[in-house]
Amino acid sequence: MASTIFYGAGDNATTNLSRFIEKAGEPVCFVDADIRKHYTSFNYGEGRVDILPLNVTVEKFPDYELWLTQIPESLLKITEYLIEQGIPKERIHYLEEVEYRLGCRNLGKLIVINYYGIRPCCYPKGKFVCSDDKVFTPQNLPVYLEKFKQWLNNTLQKLREGDPTDCDGCSELKEALINGPQKVIFCELRRIRHSNTLKMVDDVPFCLV
Ligand code: SF4
Repeated sequence: MASTIFYGAGDNATTNLSRFIEKAGEPVCFVDADIRKHYTSFNYGEGRVDILPLNVTVEKFPDYELWLTQIPESLLKITEYLIEQGIPKERIHYLEEVEYRLGCRNLGKLIVINYYGIRPCCYPKGKFVCSDDKVFTPQNLPVYLEKFKQWLNNTLQKLREGDPTDCDGCSELKEALINGPQKVIFCELRRIRHSNTLKMVDDVPFCLV
């Protein structure tokens, strides 16, 4: 079984420790960037574990899995720092519902339906999902939404695995901390062929999983 390491022996770890242990298991030690805490201990309930420097921990527990205990606003910077230090991103975990991967502010959060097809954004680039007859109707829309859902889930999986996607080359695509699985996303029906009228319909809840 892998060694659970908590990264960050600060206030957020203390306040939320039971929640963190419930998700990640008991830690074998803590790591902290503050050298004043090194070789002291983190005490909780009946437990007590060492606080060690990162390099010592990695050597001592080669099967380590790092769980970040900081507040959400700090997680991106700390993730980038750890990757710079040579920690593989697959070994960095979050107690919050976030993941570090390539993505953008639209992908997985928005559906745009317009003349060009069903798309994850308003950018003109990309193939994405089109209706064969170029017109979406209440009858055929569910079929194409299902295709879009498959495209989206495949794309997210490829981004996680570093495989090529239809989004390659887009300047919006960046490594970032992204909120975990989206349950519901926003759907806009924008413009239908033969109509220049911008037409909005009610929000359509769309389940991705
Ligand atoms: S990465 Fe670019 S093309 Fe892909 S969904 Fe985001 S904005 Fe659109």
